[in-house]
Amino acid sequence: MINSRKIKALEKIAKPLNDRLKECDLCPRNCKIDRFKQKGFCSVGSQMIIYTAFLHTGEEPPLITGKGSGTIFFSGCNLKCCYCQNYKFSHTPEGRIVSEEECGRIMLNLQKKGAANINLVTPTHYLPLILNALRIAFKNGLDIPLVYNTSGYEKTEIIRRLKGIVDVYLADVKYISGETAGKYSRAENYPFYNQESLREMYRQKPAVLDADTLKEGLIVRHLVLPGHSEETRQILCWIKKNMPDALVSIMFQYQPYFEAAKYPEINRIVSLEEFTRIKELVDELGLPGWVQEYTPEEKLAGVYFEPLSEDLLE
Ligand code: SF4
Repeated sequence: MINSRKIKALEKIAKPLNDRLKECDLCPRNCKIDRFKQKGFCSVGSQMIIYTAFLHTGEEPPLITGKGSGTIFFSGCNLKCCYCQNYKFSHTPEGRIVSEEECGRIMLNLQKKGAANINLVTPTHYLPLILNALRIAFKNGLDIPLVYNTSGYEKTEIIRRLKGIVDVYLADVKYISGETAGKYSRAENYPFYNQESLREMYRQKPAVLDADTLKEGLIVRHLVLPGHSEETRQILCWIKKNMPDALVSIMFQYQPYFEAAKYPEINRIVSLEEFTRIKELVDELGLPGWVQEYTPEEKLAGVYFEPLSEDLLE
């Protein structure tokens, strides 16, 4: 069935956002550069680059019903985390340049293969192009839920525009301390933008309709960093206070990838003691959602992903 409500909403917001590429302020970095001539802090210009796309079975349970989540990994990122597990394509423009039509085709092919949803990973810096791709896909029969999978370094006014288009927000809370955010991700103002944009997501999706087969809602994700249990405690308390009905996903898959070795305190995995303490706290707070097992799954990291398969473009 053609989703004319979403097509209408997309038509309204795509053009004004597209115009902003000429003096880019799509995210809190506010580079104000012409993306048609230059690359921004996010490492990319005006062309959409996809590193890979596939049916992902490693996401949260309600997102991987059927054959898995139809996940699209975009290249570049507006954060520069020193421990990034996707650094191969997040810190670089590595990947395949795709047109909006091709991106729309990838979405439709993922749906055809049995995807439970379309899961846009790190979409922020390509938003206007993705919205055009979605418009094409919806016009051609895309009718599965749309997941906006973000690092949480977002502007509230942009998230506000996505009302009625995004079905599920899957958003990180990485830090609550500006000092930590500055040190590891070069974004001291992360906590402010993160908290404000998550509040807007929660305003749009205050309750989960069905936690088993999630069609609509907010999942707040937190990757636990070694040696930072106190920051995790503060984050969990903030979530409990500000969005008590959001589903919470606590991840323990941290590995010291990329340049983490420069910081001895995070150059290791999370200890069993840290894991136990945090798990107890999640139970104490009664947060709904999931706590990842203490078996860090290295193979889920983006550094192991294969590049985009040609058959998704056919
Ligand atoms: S999207 Fe990229 S170019 Fe635009 S403000 Fe953010 S980092 Fe800068």
